[in-house]
Amino acid sequence: MTDYRNGTLNQKSDAWFTPENGETIRTEIAVIGGGASGCMAAIGAAESGASVVVFDKNDRPARKICATGNGRCNLVNLYQDEKCWYTSSGVSVRERLASFSERDLLAFFEERGIWFHDRQGYVYPGTDQASVIADLLIREMNRLQVGVFSGTRVTGIEKDPSGAFRITVESVGGSDPGKEKNNRNRRKKENRRKNERNRNLQTGSVRAVPEHRICIADRVILCTGGLAGPVFGCGGDGYALAESLGHSLVPTVPALTPLICPEKALKMAAGVRCPAAITLICDGEETGAEQGELQITETAVSGIPVFQLSRLAGYALREGREVRVRADFLPGMPEEEWQKHVDLRLRDDRNQTLEQLFMGLVHPKLLRFILNRLGLVSEQKRAGVKTEQIRQVLQLMRGLDFEITDLAGYEKAQVTAGGIPLTETDPDTMESLACPGLYLAGELLDADGICGGYNLQWAMTGGLLAGRAAAGK
Ligand SMILES: Cc1cc2nc3c(=O)[nH]c(=O)nc-3n(C[C@H](O)[C@H](O)[C@H](O)COP(=O)(O)OP(=O)(O)OC[C@H]3O[C@@H](n4cnc5c(N)ncnc54)[C@H](O)[C@@H]3O)c2cc1C
Repeated sequence: MTDYRNGTLNQKSDAWFTPENGETIRTEIAVIGGGASGCMAAIGAAESGASVVVFDKNDRPARKICATGNGRCNLVNLYQDEKCWYTSSGVSVRERLASFSERDLLAFFEERGIWFHDRQGYVYPGTDQASVIADLLIREMNRLQVGVFSGTRVTGIEKDPSGAFRITVESVGGSDPGKEKNNRNRRKKENRRKNERNRNLQTGSVRAVPEHRICIADRVILCTGGLAGPVFGCGGDGYALAESLGHSLVPTVPALTPLICPEKALKMAAGVRCPAAITLICDGEETGAEQGELQITETAVSGIPVFQLSRLAGYALREGREVRVRADFLPGMPEEEWQKHVDLRLRDDRNQTLEQLFMGLVHPKLLRFILNRLGLVSEQKRAGVKTEQIRQVLQLMRGLDFEITDLAGYEKAQVTAGGIPLTETDPDTMESLACPGLYLAGELLDADGICGGYNLQWAMTGGLLAGRAAAGK
């Protein structure tokens, strides 16, 4: 048994390693999931003097962080408001973050050598590299002698009568191609051993070779994330683990994700990126509104304003409601100015094609798509088109509806909406109210932020607070 409580750390210089199959690990704190929240939880706990191990499914910790902000990592946002997070738990997410603000989080990294720049409140590492944040977290865990077990999946957690947690851990193949060969060889060896064991069990002659490692921990911090980004090891395992320890689950939907539009003609506008004011309409009722750059693909509407509305659309679709997105492609244009454009198009030269007539209002591909809705084409001469139809084209530019039938799914989502209710955790310590000694942090919980650094802030701050609190027990 490797006993981390006594500091007998057998650590490789690259900060993560794999113990022998069947080894039992004893530690004060086990962190399940080595993402943004898990790394911070481990650092918070280890800095407070606890012995800590981390289990993570990936071949290295903090993998998802490297993909954040298009590889640049939008860590926090200087604009903070209650409305920047959603939860159905009826509590204030912002208040939960109050004891360690966005400035404290930046200071945490600055003190350790990272500098930041801010783009209108959106804060990124100065080098614009997400990997520096991931590398710093790994370096800190290494410095603090946290035992990081990569390529391991926690499949069960039980609390025994003494209050300790018994955690079942199994190996998973890492996604590092270099390690694939080793993993294949290991799997072959394991299969050989398994066959041998089965033979031996039949004859009853030899003790079974254990297939799982066991970790005994005084406290557990569950940081397994949600379902968004399955390529980073997020498969919703944490929900089942938390439920097995007495928690409930707010139904989840993908969030910050494109919205699927079944209209075949959408491909006419594929590739368009343009400013737009977007309204989400569910069963005829305006449910949300956002403004920003709209992106159109062959099958979906996308871009930040759509992302922001996606969780609302997701829950509406889940309830079987009819969902539409309405786009105004001339957002914020004063009525007087718009009227001038309308008048110009209504009285303009009748020999022009429709493309020439509407030139300068919207992207030409978008114009084709709009005209197609009315059975018109860009090359058509104005002379053959009724004035009423010209009015309709102009109207659609200010309010074009897209039918939405689905979300692009967790593969494309940046975050998961829903999760373990916040009301089932202590607001100061993140400790479970259902299972003392268990702590929960990050995306696993029922809180999701809008675009702009709010999700990493929630995950990292929650992780750090949970780690410190767990170590203080
Ligand atoms: C492409 C993309 C870009 C993003 N950009 C931004 C951004 O710029 N700013 C921002 O604020 N947010 C961004 N986000 C969201 C943000 O990355 C997440 O909200 C945040 O990383 C959640 O942290 P977490 O620790 O809760 O979960 P995760 O980071 O998802 O980590 C969970 C970890 O748990 C591990 N795990 C799961 N189950 C098990 C198990 N059974 N056993 C062992 N390990 C397990 C997984 O391997 C994973 O490493 C982005 C997300 C994506 C997908």
